[in-house]
Amino acid sequence: MPSPNTTRRALVRAAACLAIAPLLGLPRRARAQADAASERIELERLVAANRILAHENVVDAFGHVSIRDPQNPMRYVLARSRSPELIELKDLMRFELDGTPVDARDRTPYGERMIHGAIYEARQDVHSVVHLHSYAVLPFTISGVPLRPMIHTAGVLGAEIPVWNIRDEFGDTDMLVRNMAEGRSLAKALGKNTCVLLRGHGAAIAARNVREAVLTAYYLQVNAQVELQALALGGSPRALSPAEIAATTATQFSPLALDRAWEYFCVRAGVEPL
Ligand code: MN
Repeated sequence: MPSPNTTRRALVRAAACLAIAPLLGLPRRARAQADAASERIELERLVAANRILAHENVVDAFGHVSIRDPQNPMRYVLARSRSPELIELKDLMRFELDGTPVDARDRTPYGERMIHGAIYEARQDVHSVVHLHSYAVLPFTISGVPLRPMIHTAGVLGAEIPVWNIRDEFGDTDMLVRNMAEGRSLAKALGKNTCVLLRGHGAAIAARNVREAVLTAYYLQVNAQVELQALALGGSPRALSPAEIAATTATQFSPLALDRAWEYFCVRAGVEPL
């Protein structure tokens, strides 16, 4: 059996072929192999994202993370209904944007998968979505105190973090996003922002890729803890300015920071840093 490092090197080499295959006019089969290797990395990263968010207590028994399907932008990939800490490759399922499973077999999907499909439907720029119930974030969903990026690692949250109240449109419910009407209402509240809070429930994050999604979810939680502590000191926490948000986001999502953070989070969670 090949070592994880050998597997990783083979996958990375094959993915590199993907980028240059068209230039070299490589045969169709070589391109297909490169496509498959590249997709395998995306799926392995989605498994890693589940493990990381659980390991860092951003999600618990509940919460989930998805990617837009690398094969088909009108679909997404999300685990079956299982806690993120336990997710393996075989748990990953494909869905149409309306939440219909493509190949369910005997697997039960998450009840709140519509959060993901509705955001992918509304936002072509989004390729990864996280839904979480982080305990530090919850007070900002119910108190009227705005959650804003306060620290340089959280500039990626963006200047505006709206709060969506399911009761405004749908009356008294069990608070879960169970259908596309509710999902689309949430996606509308998210707008062009990166994060949206769900009143009495949690948050959703829309990101360009799964590694940025994980980093954003992690620092959403850290920032909420810091803001809570600053409020407890009796101060009026000062948020980053729009220019600081732009500059810190560029730094945080640069390869220097993103590669370093991803390796750190993967190793802590016990997964291969692909
Ligand atoms: Mn939820």
